[in-house]
Amino acid sequence: MANKKDLIREEILSIKPYVPGKPIEEVKRELGLEEVIKLASNENPLGASQSAIDVMKKAAEDVHIYPDGNVYRLRKKLSEKLGVAENELTFGNGSDEIVIMLGQAFMNPDDEIIMAETTFSEYRFSANIMGGNIVQVPLKDYTHDLDAMLEAVTEQTKMIFVCNPNNPTGTMVGQEEVEEFLEEVPDDVLVIFDEAYSEYATSDDYPETIDYLDDYDNLIILRTFSKIHGLAGLRIGYGIADEEIISYIDRVRQPFNIGALAQKAAIASLEDEEHVQQSLEYNQQGKKYLYQQFEELGLDYVPTQTNFILVDIEQDNNQVFQEMLERGVIIRSMDSYGYDTKIRVTIGLPDENKRFIKELKEVIRD
Ligand SMILES: *Cc1c(COP(=O)(O)O)cnc(C)c1O
Repeated sequence: MANKKDLIREEILSIKPYVPGKPIEEVKRELGLEEVIKLASNENPLGASQSAIDVMKKAAEDVHIYPDGNVYRLRKKLSEKLGVAENELTFGNGSDEIVIMLGQAFMNPDDEIIMAETTFSEYRFSANIMGGNIVQVPLKDYTHDLDAMLEAVTEQTKMIFVCNPNNPTGTMVGQEEVEEFLEEVPDDVLVIFDEAYSEYATSDDYPETIDYLDDYDNLIILRTFSKIHGLAGLRIGYGIADEEIISYIDRVRQPFNIGALAQKAAIASLEDEEHVQQSLEYNQQGKKYLYQQFEELGLDYVPTQTNFILVDIEQDNNQVFQEMLERGVIIRSMDSYGYDTKIRVTIGLPDENKRFIKELKEVIRD
């Protein structure tokens, strides 16, 4: 073959592969460690709801049958719980997949997306694969600057992504600000609120964006079962929007993109409100402990509305990442987000948080 690069679409050539949090097994294998904890991907440290696990065990008997392509029962359940119509919902193999489907359904080459400079990288990817352009708007005080995002709107703008609360900073934009923003955005621009961490947001000012759907049919809300529901390994998320918008997204949705086990586990998980509540309580407790420890260590952190904390360790974050790894604690260096001395740590169970702090103290003291 002459030149393989001649085969690939130019847009794809510019894409940098996503670097996920390191898997526990990989770290054990590579470093010969036995006790490894992962505080790198914002998973629920309590695991999934037991009833979700039980339901999956039972459903395993039937995996030779294709899943329900219409996701009937889960759709009904969510529709009742959220107070939206069944045809205002779509589903993705993780909400990541919905982000990609949005690009496939709506982006023409040279259309633009607007996103924060420091946020979830999947939005960029969604535009990239379609040959779209990306306009990045710097955060202000680690928070989405909605005014600046609004000013960045041009004739080419197709979508604006707002990660709320934001990954990796943990900050949120509040009700009034969001309402003003929605009022100002031209109605031919899609506004996507990625609410992967909404269940962790405890501020009274966190916007109930579902309430805005009636007034804004350019609004799309993304949620996931990967975070507080503890089902990251299953891959299931959902989108909420105007029924016509949903019908366009569904044109690019694979017929069986949500597995049968995922559909059943998601329903069980929604019904297990106690598990969600308990997860939130653990998170609040862990947050308090970590804040306290960071303060004692004199480290600046960004107060969070999520299950992770962005903290400034005031030294080379890649080195700290590596040394923590060698001590069996996987965290995230924020180097790829443009921060040289910050790390992101997922709030774990009490023992995990203690272990993280113990190792961190030793690493940053050296
Ligand atoms: C984790 C996360 C998601 C969810 O991803 P899934 O594909 O549903 O697992 C979406 N957005 C953000 C900002 C996230 O951090």
